[in-house]
Amino acid sequence: MRHKTITYEDTLADSAPRFHHELSEEAPAKLGIQRNRVELELALACAPSSPTEDVEDHVSHVSAALGMSRARAMQYVDIGIQLNRMPKLCQLLTQRAHLPFLHMRTIADAVLPLQNADTVAEIEQRLLEFVSPRRNNEVLRGVRSLHHFLQNVIEEFAPLLRPRDIPGDSVPAITTAATEKIGEHIGFSSGDALTEVYMELAPERAHEFELILDEIAADQDCTKVEALTHLMHGTVEVTATLNLYCPLTEEKPQKAWIGGLGWINRIATASWLDRVSSVRLMADETVEGYTPSERQRTFVQGRDGTCRFPGCEVEATKCDLDHIEPYNHEDPESGGASSTHNLHCLCRKHHNLKTSGLWNVAREIDGTEYWTSTKSGTTLVSQESGPMAGHGRYSYEIRRVRKGQTLREYNQRRHELLHESRVLVEQARAECGF
Ligand SMILES: [Zn+2]
Repeated sequence: MRHKTITYEDTLADSAPRFHHELSEEAPAKLGIQRNRVELELALACAPSSPTEDVEDHVSHVSAALGMSRARAMQYVDIGIQLNRMPKLCQLLTQRAHLPFLHMRTIADAVLPLQNADTVAEIEQRLLEFVSPRRNNEVLRGVRSLHHFLQNVIEEFAPLLRPRDIPGDSVPAITTAATEKIGEHIGFSSGDALTEVYMELAPERAHEFELILDEIAADQDCTKVEALTHLMHGTVEVTATLNLYCPLTEEKPQKAWIGGLGWINRIATASWLDRVSSVRLMADETVEGYTPSERQRTFVQGRDGTCRFPGCEVEATKCDLDHIEPYNHEDPESGGASSTHNLHCLCRKHHNLKTSGLWNVAREIDGTEYWTSTKSGTTLVSQESGPMAGHGRYSYEIRRVRKGQTLREYNQRRHELLHESRVLVEQARAECGF
């Protein structure tokens, strides 16, 4: 479910929500904004005045002027050129200077190969959403998230120009059946005391492999190496579940989201759908007792997408499920229920941070979380980012959509019944010789 589209005018308004680093009075935040502004001005100053200018000649001038290598100078030039193609984004950045250099470079690299101006305008519109928080004090997402975001958006509008996966990326967003087995291999390299075993696997297979190892390690309370030994000797039997999230609106889903893999494309979706063994409709729910159900875990992982500490990008499938308001073992009725509204994903590091009392968290009904440091009083904000983000919300817009859906289903069924009865009447007529 996508949130309300943020318009260009919204982002420029004085009242528009700001990221934490834009609002903070701390010296590093203020200096960071100043640095961003200089980097932006530098990039715009490095852009050639005409697209027909000779690249090498232009870059040699820029490189000499900046005292930087050709490659580094080229990065500034590229940012300058691409921002000129996206005037709205450029104006927003000029006004707020909230994007660091690496973010701007990631955007420029992704947009550079796009030729169609309409496509660039679409990407620009989506980027305005990425670079605009929905609430004050959200934390700007990192370049890896931005890269995945750009991969997804570009895949939608210009699939052949989708940016490549980041080398060593643990969250590859593309996994096609065609890429499977290509370049896969296992190698052994003997050292003095230990032998190194290395494998190169297609992302899907690697993901499955890790999932099974994790499952065995948890089941046997052992290390991953021991888990692998169990797997080789066949001394353990575990069931590993991999959840695939698909929108219900499509009869044949075109894309699906896998915890740990992210959004996968149409071909991969089709091949994964073939392996589905059970289907579940997800909804908020509450269970009795302390331990959340498997259904709740699946729901919350799909809703949160990552660890909920602001700015943390550890994927939800690798997180603990934490009771936001602690479960009261003495008096379960008094609060801290095992309800999806009171559960969220936290990586081990941030789970410990919360348990230690260094940060307090409050979750609003719309899923926004407010994290307040008990030491400094700073409050940071985080939003859900999984494929089911916003699922628990019930706005007037959602009400309208649901009502429309119910009505459509009702009328479809009504037409089917009318059609069936017409057919029956005609059959009866024919049999009676009318
Ligand atoms: Zn975390």
